[in-house]
Amino acid sequence: MKVRDFRERRRELVEELVRGGILKNEKVIKAMLAVPREEFVPANYRDYAYNDSPLPIGYGQTISAPHMVAIMTQALDPELGNKVLEVGTGSGYQAAVLAEIVGESGHVWTIERIKELVEFAKNNLGRLSYLRRVTVIHGDGSLGYSVAAPYDRIMVTAAAPEIPDPLLKQLKIGGRLVAPVGNRYFQRLVIVTKESNGKVKQEYSIPCVFVPLVGKYGFKFSEF
Ligand code: SAM
Repeated sequence: MKVRDFRERRRELVEELVRGGILKNEKVIKAMLAVPREEFVPANYRDYAYNDSPLPIGYGQTISAPHMVAIMTQALDPELGNKVLEVGTGSGYQAAVLAEIVGESGHVWTIERIKELVEFAKNNLGRLSYLRRVTVIHGDGSLGYSVAAPYDRIMVTAAAPEIPDPLLKQLKIGGRLVAPVGNRYFQRLVIVTKESNGKVKQEYSIPCVFVPLVGKYGFKFSEF
């Protein structure tokens, strides 16, 4: 398929998400129109890049469905110039969407536990010149990334049994965190805001199903 055809299908998918009432925020619409999802999936899945479904990226992991990226990014509500931490880099697609929104004055740090996916994401992001605005780290993201903390926004893109404590600590006052929280098979999206007195407020949003966050503050590897 030609680049022009991918661009056309990307526009159609975004329009469909807008018509369906899922995609509402102008910043997120612009970002999803700008990032070529076909560049973040393995070659044999490129033709399916604009189906609204998760796709395999290897090692038992997935790139999230576009509607889920839209919902989570809108719930996170990142702003120009923000410092954002993403836990669960996968393909690097969500990091690119976040990077489009925070712009040159912001930065995205994204952590992935599977070394091969760190390389996959770096290649994908590098080809599209996102690596100036995105730093990809290999490690256990349930511990956060204290080196660059505190963050204005934190997004977890793997299912956690509860919000990892280090992430709450690394969130700025007034900051916002979004994560799927629940058991291995079923979660709810949780939106956390850190109030001026340092207290955290949790709001439960839509049901969802994510691959597990495996780590010290996630699920243990032996549970699989
Ligand atoms: N955001 C990704 C994208 O745009 O392609 C999709 C994320 S995928 C649904 C979840 C990812 O979280 C997987 O790549 C998985 O390896 C990773 N993961 C699971 N536990 C992790 C941990 N403790 N630290 C960092 N990454 C983790």
